[in-house]
Amino acid sequence: DSKRRVRNGWQTFTPELAQRQQDRLQIETHLRRAADNDEFHLVYQPQVDLRHGRVIAAEALIRWENHQLGEMRPDVFIGHAETTGDIVRIGGWVLREACRQVHEWREQGYGIVRVAINVSYRQFLAEDLAASVRDALAEFGLPGSALELEFTERVLIEDAPDTVKTFMALRELGVVLTIDDFGEGYSALNYVRRLPIHGLKLSQLFVQGVPDNQSDVAVCRAVAAIARSLGLGLVAEGVESEAQRQFLVQLGVPVGQGFLFAPGLAPDEFVHRLDRNPDLAHA
Ligand code: C2E
Ligand code: MG
Ligand code: MG
Ligand code: MG
Repeated sequence: DSKRRVRNGWQTFTPELAQRQQDRLQIETHLRRAADNDEFHLVYQPQVDLRHGRVIAAEALIRWENHQLGEMRPDVFIGHAETTGDIVRIGGWVLREACRQVHEWREQGYGIVRVAINVSYRQFLAEDLAASVRDALAEFGLPGSALELEFTERVLIEDAPDTVKTFMALRELGVVLTIDDFGEGYSALNYVRRLPIHGLKLSQLFVQGVPDNQSDVAVCRAVAAIARSLGLGLVAEGVESEAQRQFLVQLGVPVGQGFLFAPGLAPDEFVHRLDRNPDLAHA
């Protein structure tokens, strides 16, 4: 089928291609106004201690509901937002909304909950990220330790001249810095060693296959060994089964996230999980 469409390097115009281009345009048009129209919200997925199941932190995940397009998944629209540059504004909204929510939880007595947000490589390129983070923390009276930034290996490849400086500044604010989806991309070990980061997130791509798939088992072991030898924290993503949890505990992975524990939750549902662990709210 793709052979029929591509001749001599020219892509023949087809109805499907036209449809795809129209879909893209429609998404990008709505995306531009989504922040102003209040169409985004955040859900919070618990990060739990893999041994005891206690909630340690949350990852904020963006959700977009548009009256015409319906519910759009971030896997679909974040890429578009990166292409158009809208991600910078959207990322700014995520940062402030996450800080506002943590502030509210603290006011309500939920103590030390830390929230992780996902940061696009475009935000590193387009703005002084450390300044934005400092402003957001100040606006809501939060210490840097209330916030964690997850970024993918893409940020390492782009190698903006100020990347290391930005990381240093963020670290000085007390913000926790993590590489997301570790193992999926280029795993530039040289950078991992060079950047002042605190932890890695083991990609769910490999967690999915354990304990049966031997090459996934090998990758998980390797990532756990890298984290240990570099003195980095490690969070396993996409933990869906008890067998996976047990494998990860045996491997010495301290923290996990996944449907076995909870999906992304509305703020009051997330707080419910904390209620069942009152010791944690004040630890
Ligand atoms: P991510 O940061 O790696 O987030 C993990 C994704 O895996 C989330 O999908 C989460 O809902 C899903 N997940 C969690 N546990 C499980 C599990 O046990 N099994 C499976 N199959 N999936 C699980 P989601 O929310 O659709 O987000 C997809 C990606 O979109 C994120 O991957 C992240 O890269 C990006 N994203 C989400 N929110 C934001 C945001 O606010 N800003 C930016 N720049 N990117 C975001
Ligand atoms: Mg993430
Ligand atoms: Mg991830
Ligand atoms: Mg991912």
